[in-house]
Amino acid sequence: MAAPIRAPRGTQDRLPESAAAWARAETAAADLASSYGFDRIDTPLFERTELFVRGLGEASDAVSKEMFLVGGAAGSDEETPAWALRPEPTAGIVRAYLEHGLQVRPGPLRVWLLGPMFRYDRPQAGRYRQFTQWDVEVIGDPGPSVDAELIELATRYCARLGIGGVQVHLNSIGDEQCRPAYRAALVEYFSAHRDRLSPDGRRRLDANPLRVLDDRTLDPALAAGAPRSVDHLCAACTEHWLAVTGFLDRLGVAYQLDHRLVRGLDYYTRTTFELFAPGREGSQDALAGGGRYDGLVETLGGPSTPGIGFGLGMDRVIMAMSRSGVPGEPAPALVVVVGTQPNDHAERLVIAASLRDQGLRVRPDGSDRKLGRQLESAAKLGARWAVIVGEELTRGAVMLKDLADGTQREIGLHAVAAEIRDASRGPN
Ligand code: AMP
Repeated sequence: MAAPIRAPRGTQDRLPESAAAWARAETAAADLASSYGFDRIDTPLFERTELFVRGLGEASDAVSKEMFLVGGAAGSDEETPAWALRPEPTAGIVRAYLEHGLQVRPGPLRVWLLGPMFRYDRPQAGRYRQFTQWDVEVIGDPGPSVDAELIELATRYCARLGIGGVQVHLNSIGDEQCRPAYRAALVEYFSAHRDRLSPDGRRRLDANPLRVLDDRTLDPALAAGAPRSVDHLCAACTEHWLAVTGFLDRLGVAYQLDHRLVRGLDYYTRTTFELFAPGREGSQDALAGGGRYDGLVETLGGPSTPGIGFGLGMDRVIMAMSRSGVPGEPAPALVVVVGTQPNDHAERLVIAASLRDQGLRVRPDGSDRKLGRQLESAAKLGARWAVIVGEELTRGAVMLKDLADGTQREIGLHAVAAEIRDASRGPN
């Protein structure tokens, strides 16, 4: 026998038992986004590599180290196409925004997306090569009130799912006016301590100095003494920052200033934020990250347009739900249609179809096994009801068996669905 083929590293199979948790998390995302006036958007899972290089920045980890490149068709003579699986959704959404002229619609554009992202990173617990993000974006709104609104939305989502202990980290990294001076201050500070930086930290200092701050191996004492971006903001960025924090106070959203929160991608300006939940063994897991990107639309060839958004890691949300003991979305009670005769499969199918039309969740037994065996299987599947097709059918009736208490009685076919629905609702 040939050895079975295993899934690629860093991917996960979502088995049926996780479906209820995913359903709850996805439904909450869709409902909440809708209640904030957002519409759904979907973009391709792959784009021209150039889009990410220009949008995210050549020096970003997502582009320089983790880009998942896609080849062309097998056997094709075409040159290898320059495509990459999307590492994040914002660049693709902005591409679509420009391609379809969405900027001429009454704005600002408020959209959300839920789907897989790909990063060719070293897989570990909670870090996958394919993961799912819920992404919320506002394009064409300079803020600051929308900044607070989005942060509040992200925290409300966690609260709605029952994920406790979520902390909001907040920072402002300024804009093209004030960032050069801040960058220069950082370079001066870290250059004086170059020997205390990791090899990666030294690389960051040369390529993208702000990112020295989010090197996880950075000596905390060195980080604490580093210049803070909020102390280097220009007047306009200061005003924006004070307004965002003021709105969050009014909304009752607690946050903590995090000077090291610079985010990994080049496109961020002003507001940056991340949400953390208590993780395994007291660690902190980043559930969501986002920020303002006022230069991105222009970088991608459009008119100067402000934007802001966040990406929430759904795989980590599912793990946090399970740690908090949050149950999944309950599936409606399952009905199994079984039969006493081997030649009654057509009746089973027809009755199943009719019960589904009446809103029930139904699975016919397709086997010729004895009735007892069919009922045993139904119970093992977790079915709540068995509709037994037998000689009562000549009277337009079936036996309805309640698998929870083992009782059964004859009931007219027309009354089965109502009976099951009433019983499932329970006494009230
Ligand atoms: P980022 O923009 O990289 O901060 O990503 C936003 C959120 O997506 C993070 O806070 C994580 O919850 C999630 N995320 C990012 N990368 C991964 C990954 N490789 N595997 C699982 N979740 C991820």
